[in-house]
Amino acid sequence: MISLQEFLYEGDDLGATYWEASTLFKVWSPVADHMKVLLYQDSMDEIGISYDMVKTEHGIWELRLFGDYKNMYYNYKVITRTGETVTPDPYTKGATVNGMKGMIVDFSSINPVGWENHRLPQPIQSTEAVIYEMHIRDFSSDSSSGIHHKGKYLGFTETGTKTETGEMTGIDHLKELGITHLHIMPVFDFSSTDECNENEYNWGYDPFLYNVPEGSYSSDPIDGTIRIKEFKQMIQTLHENNIRIVMDIVYNHTYRVDSSPFHILAPGFYYRINQDGVYGNGSGCGNEIATEKPMVRKFILDSLKFWMTEYKIDGFRFDLMALIDINTMQEIQTLLRSINPNVLLYGEPWTGGGSFLDYPMQFQKGKQRGKQIAIFNDEFRNAIKGDNDGWYTGFVNGGMGHEQNMKRGIVGSIYYNPELSGFAEEPVESVNYVSSHDNLTLYDKMVKCCPGQSDCDIEKRNRLALSIIMTSQGIPFLHGGSEFLRTKGGNPNSYNAGDAVNAIRWDNKNKYHETFEYIKGLIEIRKSLEILRLRKAEEIRKTVSFLETPPGVVAYVLNSSVGDNAFHVLIVHNANRDSFQIILPYQGEWKLLANGVKADVKGIKDTIINTEFVRIDGISTFIYQMNSI
Ligand code: CA
Repeated sequence: MISLQEFLYEGDDLGATYWEASTLFKVWSPVADHMKVLLYQDSMDEIGISYDMVKTEHGIWELRLFGDYKNMYYNYKVITRTGETVTPDPYTKGATVNGMKGMIVDFSSINPVGWENHRLPQPIQSTEAVIYEMHIRDFSSDSSSGIHHKGKYLGFTETGTKTETGEMTGIDHLKELGITHLHIMPVFDFSSTDECNENEYNWGYDPFLYNVPEGSYSSDPIDGTIRIKEFKQMIQTLHENNIRIVMDIVYNHTYRVDSSPFHILAPGFYYRINQDGVYGNGSGCGNEIATEKPMVRKFILDSLKFWMTEYKIDGFRFDLMALIDINTMQEIQTLLRSINPNVLLYGEPWTGGGSFLDYPMQFQKGKQRGKQIAIFNDEFRNAIKGDNDGWYTGFVNGGMGHEQNMKRGIVGSIYYNPELSGFAEEPVESVNYVSSHDNLTLYDKMVKCCPGQSDCDIEKRNRLALSIIMTSQGIPFLHGGSEFLRTKGGNPNSYNAGDAVNAIRWDNKNKYHETFEYIKGLIEIRKSLEILRLRKAEEIRKTVSFLETPPGVVAYVLNSSVGDNAFHVLIVHNANRDSFQIILPYQGEWKLLANGVKADVKGIKDTIINTEFVRIDGISTFIYQMNSI
């Protein structure tokens, strides 16, 4: 049996640490009888030169090699009574193709020009974020992108790219839209594709080497320096264009157990296993990582800190976050916020199946209370559009009786009053979304649930759904492409469906230009009206008042006053096909900012409304603003 205390190592020097004069290797393997470093001449070298490591305390093996080993490849040979196995270092910071060998990385020799001191985006509060989810490959793989480096990190560094009809694409599109955070689906090294085969596609929820960028998105997966340089070029370009970057990370399972460096160095230790030797499967992928064990928790903390400091990552999205124990999540939040107080942290508050982690220890919905970690608000999502892939409808697509849950979501799922009480202590704990990479796209869901309706009506319902997301309290999240009605042809799980299904069709930006302009206008409105992104539950309780409305309509007014200046915003979501009249809650001059078709922070009409009633069109969101003295 491994005693946890005896084999707990707390140093911050695991892996291969490079200096010009020497390289220090340290690896944790309490069960090995002997351990060797294999140093390779190049990426093709299969044999390597072998150096014995020395066992020190706490299960650590150590070796210092004098000389300059800059960017050379290495592995460990683990020797036990039952045999010997060669494995990459789980702490390796670089690798050759498909993670066959790790790399002794000298970042200073790889960094792109200007990396160290490149301009970072302004710090912003989490509630000021507008998150946009994208897959590296989907962003540029279609010919309509006009992007040269298709499917690659470098696709995000190209400016001035356009569709044939002249619509901006790529990073220019992101700037035009106005998002604050690009959330990228897995870019750590994953194993589900052969990095040399351009035809293989996967979302990448199959971790192998956690601290290495995925090779298939680089222009050369064999030379381990290229992926590091190109991913940093992508980050630098985004930062210099005032876009922050969130990594989607998967510390809940590994692609395989037997081939995992974790398992080779410490068999069984990194995973949840019961008394009968059965592996937990809370991930739905055949294993689950035992985050509650100190050396496993340490690995996760070290890994996150590494991405944040070496790659200047601005936030993390935790896949199946409920599988991470609450103590680890607490330590993550404390550590990362000590490095960057504005780090954006959010995740899925659920598992992918029954877990061996005791339920009270799972980071389920509610466990985020007061912790500055946000969760995907599935209750609000379902209230807006119905279930993910089935026939159930929600508020925007003809469902009945969703008004109460809509209101609960609009206030950020905080405690608003005894009837409207949600899971969150503060609004910053709710990520508001209607679609993401999983399940049907918003457009495909609308098509499924609104048979026989015109494309125009479908488009209006998409706008209504996204209007709700962009005006509600909490953190708005857009599935990339939904701003011009992304479709995957009804595929609800396109993880390996290739570019044909997954690629962003930039031509749709022209086809659905009105919707694109509308979403862009909504983002601008959100950014300019602080009242839409309140930081505290207490402020929301004071500011938001719901109005009496017929079924299929939710309307509320946001009131604030500074000194003698009153400021009111009226938001009306009308999901009915018919228009209806609403009495303006205050007499005075109202300015129309959005009418379901157009959205403009400066007002979409020259005329100022000064009437008792206004008419709200069917299937639309209207936003009015009044300043009065
Ligand atoms: Ca890979």
